[in-house]
Amino acid sequence: MKTITDLRGTFALHNGVGMPYFGLGVYLSKEGQEVINAVKWAIKTGYRHVDTASVYKNEEGVGEGIKQSGIAREDIFVVSKVWNNDQGYETTLRAFEGSLKRLGMEYLDLYLIHWPVAGKYKETWKALEKLYREGRIRAIGVSNFLKHHLEDLVETSEIVPMVNQMEFHPYLVQQELLAYCTAHKIQYEAWSPLMQGKVFGIEAIQTLARKYGKSVAQVVLRWNLQKGVVTIPKSSKKERIVANANIFDFALSEEDVALLDAMDRRQRFGPDPDNFDF
Ligand code: NAD
Repeated sequence: MKTITDLRGTFALHNGVGMPYFGLGVYLSKEGQEVINAVKWAIKTGYRHVDTASVYKNEEGVGEGIKQSGIAREDIFVVSKVWNNDQGYETTLRAFEGSLKRLGMEYLDLYLIHWPVAGKYKETWKALEKLYREGRIRAIGVSNFLKHHLEDLVETSEIVPMVNQMEFHPYLVQQELLAYCTAHKIQYEAWSPLMQGKVFGIEAIQTLARKYGKSVAQVVLRWNLQKGVVTIPKSSKKERIVANANIFDFALSEEDVALLDAMDRRQRFGPDPDNFDF
């Protein structure tokens, strides 16, 4: 069982780096003032982790928001991802420099392979390993890698990914994959933890929310952490950014964690890592 303390708490990655287990997602937050504000509000609230990607086209705003927050760069855990058409060895090295330049930063805390592009991800990983060894990134990982992708990758890799960022919510738990990652010290991380907003309509979770005197979002996000899963809910609205992080004054019982686990329908709202065409 991992210990959960407060918004600045971390889970230790297998290389010893502490990854804040609660962060801000910025997919679909507009470049410019919208994302700048979201990042600033989040940091003011106490968030210390921001998750972007080159394909979100808002890295400049993320960097600017962090700069304007008044909190030191070293105190924020910054994550970006290499996009599919940049995969390959040299192209990934170039893409990384592009992300750093847009963010206005000297290093990243975590860099992820965004999707397991067939025939490409092993070369991409070699580039990440090089950047990691050079100290340009504090941790490297993957996203949307199923068990067979991970097994294939580690066959030739020198470094086991530190993180796997996956779609994860009450309708897509993938407990076997989570257990596999845990066994291999790969930190599991949830994307779309709120089912892109669709989680709010689930009656059984509304009932749980009433029981704990919390919101549906808070119950679901707390469930992520109690399962040892890093979570990065997205919002660009101040009240929601603040409210989503207000999950450190209660704990779900083991039975209620199990109840949420049992809602699994193996239902994706995002693309299937075994069948995507972008
Ligand atoms: P999410 O599950 O975080 O849901 C976001 C939606 O819920 C938004 O529409 C938001 O306005 C709404 N919302 C948030 N808080 C709310 C609240 N308290 N009350 C009511 N509505 C609320 O979805 P997401 O953005 O898809 O996922 C989170 C983050 O994960 C992304 O921003 C991105 O950083 C990352 N992500 C990664 C991948 C990947 O392939 N690696 C894919 C998708 C998302």
